[in-house]
Amino acid sequence: MTTSLPQDATPQEGAPKPPAVGRLAPTPSGRMHLGNAFSALVAWASARSQGGRVILRIEDLDPRAQDPQNAQMLVDDLRWLGIDWDEGPVYQSDRTDVYLQQIDALAQKGITYPCFCTRSELHAATAPHASDGTYLYPGTCRGLSPREVAERSRKRRPATRLMVPAEDDPNGTIVFEDLGYGAHEECLAHECGDFLIRRSDGVVAYQLAVVVDDCQMGVTEVVRGRDLLPSSARQIYLAGLLGMTPPRYGHVPLLVAPDGRRLSKRDHDLSLQALREENVSPKVVVGLLASYIGLAEGGEEIDAADFERRFSWDAIRSHRDDIQADASALLPR
Ligand code: GLU
Repeated sequence: MTTSLPQDATPQEGAPKPPAVGRLAPTPSGRMHLGNAFSALVAWASARSQGGRVILRIEDLDPRAQDPQNAQMLVDDLRWLGIDWDEGPVYQSDRTDVYLQQIDALAQKGITYPCFCTRSELHAATAPHASDGTYLYPGTCRGLSPREVAERSRKRRPATRLMVPAEDDPNGTIVFEDLGYGAHEECLAHECGDFLIRRSDGVVAYQLAVVVDDCQMGVTEVVRGRDLLPSSARQIYLAGLLGMTPPRYGHVPLLVAPDGRRLSKRDHDLSLQALREENVSPKVVVGLLASYIGLAEGGEEIDAADFERRFSWDAIRSHRDDIQADASALLPR
């Protein structure tokens, strides 16, 4: 059976619609840029426009992202934009034991294995595959004998991978309807292969943590940049294995710099920090972001509440291409 999620399924007549629960899930690796602000605004507006709740989760699993100052600045930037939340901030770094329990549960099912491949071995063996830079893992360590595992463990701490079904097994083909990008189908064996659930430095992998959090926190919709669209299939698959109900997914277009580069937290000129330092008002920023998806006229100033009132997923569905963002127009010359 193909794992299929009817995302826009009409609830049965008379059945009360469960309240929407959205989430903001920033990684504190730097200040927010306009692209982060755009997806946070859409995630918030989507949940609030349905009368739903919002959870703030700080994704600081990677020790390099465990920077309380950065986390505090993200919280300030969100508030400055006019975004609020009902729960959190919840820090992923406080939840390691919860993730490890779930990794154990998968190991008990016999569907995980230690992987000793180094990053350079992986890069040499395969070409970058999916648009998110995922490598198709060729299964190098899948068949290691217990003796080989013991021998290799003496030299190198292994990562942990999750086995995905063979290409011809329909269980490994995930079909879902994205709120922004429509029907999506992905064969895991073909797109990513066995994927990491724990890194060799012991850090729990993003895919595992995000599923456990979203499901355990009762999140009903995950809204984020379209670079994470290919991850959704892995996340739906993992949720199924862990006996959890996956949320709906809605991806939004990416913002790119005027020269076509994808915005990154290093693009200081497009950070909220730079705009705030120049005393640009949040209404100008929200107005600019709204204009990218036809919710405001160019130059119109609106606040987050206006954005929410005007928001519908149709706006995203009719603006799916990457957006050239030029915040320099907002800065004084
Ligand atoms: N923490 C990720 C980021 O800041 C988002 C992950 C997600 O939304 O699933 O880009």
